[in-house]
Amino acid sequence: MGQDPHPSPNSSLNPSYSYQVSGSDLWHWQQQAKKEAIAHHIAPTEVDWFLQALSDLERLALRLESFKTRSVILLALSFEALQSRWQQRIEGRLPVQYLVGQTSWRQFALTVSPAVLIPRPETELLIDLAIAAAEDNPTLCTGRWVDLGTGSGAIALGLADAFPNAEIHAVDCSQEALAIAQQNAQLNGWNGDGNSDQHSAKQIHFHHGHWFSPFQTTVDPQPLKFNGIVSNPPYIPSALIPDLQPEVTRHEPHLALDGGNDGLDCIRHLIAMAPHYLVSNGLLLIELMAGQADTVVTMLEQSNGYHRIQRHTDLAGIHRFVSAYRG
Ligand code: GLN
Repeated sequence: MGQDPHPSPNSSLNPSYSYQVSGSDLWHWQQQAKKEAIAHHIAPTEVDWFLQALSDLERLALRLESFKTRSVILLALSFEALQSRWQQRIEGRLPVQYLVGQTSWRQFALTVSPAVLIPRPETELLIDLAIAAAEDNPTLCTGRWVDLGTGSGAIALGLADAFPNAEIHAVDCSQEALAIAQQNAQLNGWNGDGNSDQHSAKQIHFHHGHWFSPFQTTVDPQPLKFNGIVSNPPYIPSALIPDLQPEVTRHEPHLALDGGNDGLDCIRHLIAMAPHYLVSNGLLLIELMAGQADTVVTMLEQSNGYHRIQRHTDLAGIHRFVSAYRG
């Protein structure tokens, strides 16, 4: 994945430990697995992440290798099964996040499976951009937001956390993805009844459908309007998909990656449709691929529906986001 895994342990995702292995056996395996990882251009820290998720070991004990003198380490699966699962990382190029079934994103521990894109660190900035926009426009704090193409639910959770008094909607055309997004909302605390200090499960509304389709109604000619629309849509040109890292090409859902011929099919649709679903001065905030910002800004300018059109960079200085307000 080319990203440094920083797991945040979350007890609700911790497995039960029914198996055991000696510290010294596990240490020998860890050493050999790290060498093998390096030989296959995989970050050796992934071995520790894998072990942290599937054993009772903490990150520091793994890093300092202090566990090697322990007589017993508890495991979530047999030592043999653990070793063969790691082989899927090496031989099958399965991302470690799918191997352990979770990833960390902002402060959340998120369940992931090959039904959802593994949320990327750079996408975390979409939430910071939404927060910055709300500083100038306080109605965003209490208004209605939608995350289109929610996948694992990461952006919807980020928005719900940033704006506890806002109403958040999350849409995905994959039922499987939507089930994972709902599970992630529950696991990360959106499970209250709305009467206590907990997040209310009712703060986030999940919808099955394509982009705005859940909000198109023939009964009510006035569609639901949003103060903010956020999306990390598929934006990779189809022809580039086979050349991505094998972890991405072979295992991540192409539905979440493939943006058609020029990669802009979904973004074009969002730009055309969003003005119908935004309140006046409502915000559209989109992630895109390096190199697409100029074209997308031109598309926004030509649509005549927007003003205050801006590009935003990621931490590498790449223009990776655009924002615009409905006129
Ligand atoms: N950022 C993802 C990647 O690098 C692509 C995500 C997307 O298409 N929205 O693979």
